[in-house]
Amino acid sequence: MSASILDGKGLAATICDELIPRIKDFLRSGGRPPQLGILLVGENPASEVYVRNKRRTAEELGLDVDLVHLPATASLDDAKRTINRFNESESHDGILVQVPVPTAWGSGASRELFEQIHPAKDVDSFHSINVGRLMQNRATLMPCTPSGIIELLLRSQIAIEGQHAVVLGRSEIVGRPLAMMLLHRHATVTICHSHTPNLASVAATADLLVAAVGRPVFVTDEFVKPGATVIDVGINRITDPDLASTLVAADSVRWKAFERRGSMLVGDVHPDVQKVAGALTPVPGGVGPLTVAMLMANTVEAATARLSS
Ligand code: NDP
Repeated sequence: MSASILDGKGLAATICDELIPRIKDFLRSGGRPPQLGILLVGENPASEVYVRNKRRTAEELGLDVDLVHLPATASLDDAKRTINRFNESESHDGILVQVPVPTAWGSGASRELFEQIHPAKDVDSFHSINVGRLMQNRATLMPCTPSGIIELLLRSQIAIEGQHAVVLGRSEIVGRPLAMMLLHRHATVTICHSHTPNLASVAATADLLVAAVGRPVFVTDEFVKPGATVIDVGINRITDPDLASTLVAADSVRWKAFERRGSMLVGDVHPDVQKVAGALTPVPGGVGPLTVAMLMANTVEAATARLSS
């Protein structure tokens, strides 16, 4: 068996295309495009790439982007002042704080900043009010990565109701909200984490397996029930040529790119899983682009809701 590949990149482009008429409607009634305020702090290369992608996609769709890039030496108060400016602005509809923030700000800093964002502009949906609404199944803005995964399952006609979903990872941005969203759609959900015994055998009971652990190629074929749907959330940069050479073919474009750059991105799922799974998301080109598309959808949703409130 060879898994069908779930084309997250293609679906992300479709989701963005579907937003265009809504953006035009907003422009007509609001007299301006929806605007996303982004706060980025410091010089984390991965964060800079993520923000560049989000900004490019937003601008291609005709959204305004107000990117505030503070130096790593900025204070937590500087960051809060930026968020307050976005909160108070009539023309900022969505607000996003790119994490991680400087470690010098302390372990609770990102949560403090998420709490500072007005819930109606909270397009990442990490504010406790939005987390609570998600628990109660009455959220209007939902976290982007989990909602991208739900959208992919729905549009690929992959059943959720009645299925056993195993989510590997319980982070506040992926594992936990996704588990809740699957539960709301009537899956039976098991959440696993670093203290779960017999992880592979628990995972192998899943009809729908989601890997969000942040460990390169951690999920091997023994984790996967034949025919299961496997969603690979992980984005991990590897630099070890011995490992890389076991994952991609020697004459492939990806291997040549690895040789040129000295690194490549891989998911949490080993490529051998393709031989066992029924359907699988690739990395890159799976969940990542969907996350960006859902951020655009949330920004348009927040803008439209503000206009009609
Ligand atoms: P976190 O590091 O916040 O959480 C990882 C989770 O995996 C934790 O719950 C942890 O358990 C669990 N875990 C770690 N090691 C093991 C193990 N050996 N066995 C079982 N469970 C384990 O990561 P995130 O949720 O933020 O991200 C996960 C991955 O997804 C990363 O690669 C990240 O880059 C990627 N990502 C991709 C996005 C996309 O758009 N495609 C968006 C967001 C993230 P415990 O709680 O016990 O520590």
